[in-house]
Amino acid sequence: MELSANIEINTVNTLNLARLSGAVFRCDACGTHKTETRDIITGAGVSIEIIRIVTELSGGAGRAVLVSGKNSFFAAGKKISDILTGAGFFCDTVIIENLTAAQKSILAAVKDDTRLIISVGGGAITDCAKLAAAEAGLPLAVVLSTPASENFAAPYAYVDNDGFTDRREAPPPAAVIADLDILGAVPASHIAAAFGLVTSKILSVFDSRFSRVMNGTPHCDGIESLICSASDACFGLGESLTRHERKAIAALSENIIRLSLLKQMAPSQIMASGGAEGHFALSAAQILTAGSRRPRMYGENAFLGAQVLAKLYKLMLASGDGGVLPPPDMTLRAERYSAATGIPEHAVLSRYSGVPDSEAYSLYAYKFGEYRSEFYDMVCNAETRISRASRIFKRIYSDAGYWCKSYLSESDYRAAISLAPDVFEQYTLLRYMRDTGHLEQFLP
Ligand SMILES: [Zn+2]
Repeated sequence: MELSANIEINTVNTLNLARLSGAVFRCDACGTHKTETRDIITGAGVSIEIIRIVTELSGGAGRAVLVSGKNSFFAAGKKISDILTGAGFFCDTVIIENLTAAQKSILAAVKDDTRLIISVGGGAITDCAKLAAAEAGLPLAVVLSTPASENFAAPYAYVDNDGFTDRREAPPPAAVIADLDILGAVPASHIAAAFGLVTSKILSVFDSRFSRVMNGTPHCDGIESLICSASDACFGLGESLTRHERKAIAALSENIIRLSLLKQMAPSQIMASGGAEGHFALSAAQILTAGSRRPRMYGENAFLGAQVLAKLYKLMLASGDGGVLPPPDMTLRAERYSAATGIPEHAVLSRYSGVPDSEAYSLYAYKFGEYRSEFYDMVCNAETRISRASRIFKRIYSDAGYWCKSYLSESDYRAAISLAPDVFEQYTLLRYMRDTGHLEQFLP
């Protein structure tokens, strides 16, 4: 049954997660925004609710396939499996050790009487489960094993496509469980990554507004205020997060869930899916993987991206130099991309988004000049907030004995920034800098 869209999209109406699930919101600018995930359960000890969810999604009979990573299985998967088995359900477990073969292993565990797939893990595991559920035509229930992931409710999954990160459409989960007994026990690095993820959205909002002005891409002020309220709420948690207080972790997780649902509500808006800081994060992950170094959580990479990009954007907008520089040398760029990622040059070039022709370019340059000072004020504001966030971020980390910046060298930063605007379709200021030849000039 379709609900009538009589609830206005605003912060108050979306604060309550139970109200946000399976709802249609009225928006003066966009018409409607809706969420398809019908069941969102948060709180301490709510894992037990998996029984009700499985009963509803399976019709009370048949089997479930539970997908988990090695760590998340011990942190949460085993608990879920025990609850289901104890209640008399048949539950087949798939532990993912190799992401490349994950989808195949999940599908191999699906039997004739399998009625649903349950994912217990972070972003990568959930994406594999989401794609397998889509292929098998089964509903998906997600049990969060970490607050440091926001893609679980998206109507798409990220897949590795010959070394590039692509988005593939897939139905979002029918139900999400966020059990504080599980989320409250994660390492400090996960809390920092979740905090970084929410606060890095400030840069997405900037890129989204930039793209609306420059390119006419959709940007809804209602969605923007939801993102800002989530980020404000997490700023307010600062001190309690550094002490790892459960109440603060609960609030952080709820805001992550809200952000994740925005991907259903506004799938084509840059601020929901991620701006240049997200592209930076995926590029950084690619560089780390190519160098056989330990991959980091998306939220950590995105937060570092937001820090360096806010500085870079400020330099670009302060310079006032909207002048035409020689267009970027795409072959040179491809060469660098190839060296950093190990992907052959011809494969890189075939994926590159081109630069605008001279007519489009003059229009961009004109708009850039017109709005430059407005953009500058916005980015200064964003930079101030991001530096404030970075002090909290470091404190959450240092409590756990980490030092957050050591895993990327100066040249890694340069490479990640330089690669980020090339292979993602979303228009950002970073892309504009590349197209106009200004990126190399301002690289740190
Ligand atoms: Zn809207």
